[in-house]
Amino acid sequence: MLELSAVNSFYGKAHVLNDLSFTVARGQVVALLGRNGAGKTTTMKSIMQLVVPRSGKVTFQGHDITGSAPHKVAKLGLGYVPEERRIFTDLTVLENLEVGRQPPREGSYAWTTEMLFDLFPNLAERRGNRGKALSGGEQQMLTIARTLMGNPSFVLLDEPSEGIAPVIVEQMARVIIQLKQEGLTVLLSEQNLHFARAVADMAVIIEGGTQKFTGTLDELNAHPEIRDAYLSV
Ligand code: ATP
Repeated sequence: MLELSAVNSFYGKAHVLNDLSFTVARGQVVALLGRNGAGKTTTMKSIMQLVVPRSGKVTFQGHDITGSAPHKVAKLGLGYVPEERRIFTDLTVLENLEVGRQPPREGSYAWTTEMLFDLFPNLAERRGNRGKALSGGEQQMLTIARTLMGNPSFVLLDEPSEGIAPVIVEQMARVIIQLKQEGLTVLLSEQNLHFARAVADMAVIIEGGTQKFTGTLDELNAHPEIRDAYLSV
């Protein structure tokens, strides 16, 4: 569904991604793992074309999207949830969701606010509260829910478990598993291997912008030396 072929991305002269090549098949959950500064966010931005790769190619559902405008990439069905939470703090939870509403594409999911409240019960309880009254974890959930209102077929989640309470991390894992069951494809970036194990089918490990491992979580479990070399556990 998504393919990166020899993607090289830069910030000015700084060469941040080196020849990244991996694929995410429809219906998979893939975890992009690596330490702080490994290049996970840059990989997400290079997929969304917020950073345009200087060489290499990003293909989504057979379309070469390299160099496309980010809003056009989003229109094809890619929903990006950045690391920093993006909600309107003065709007209520329900209003935040309404603002994110986009018409469904042909054959795409058509989320309603009620469906999202089923998926995120804690947001349902707080539907009339303003964004600023929510905890960090709830704001994170709302950012994801708002992205789902755009009816993406593919969701990119940048460090969804970062900086949130353990009980919310568990709920987040459940949400990702449910999204997969609904047929969505997910690429998430993580430093938390435990979280990745709970939700992902495949892992891609990067270090210094270079791909060090691509395989299943079982394969990764069988190679603790890879985990020790490239991940903080
Ligand atoms: P984190 O967990 O801290 O978000 P990451 O794996 O997502 O880390 P990136 O944010 O992609 O890593 O950063 C990769 C490298 O690019 C780092 O060395 C970082 O300092 C550098 N970098 C990130 N953003 C910029 C920028 N806007 N300009 C210059 N260098 C940047």
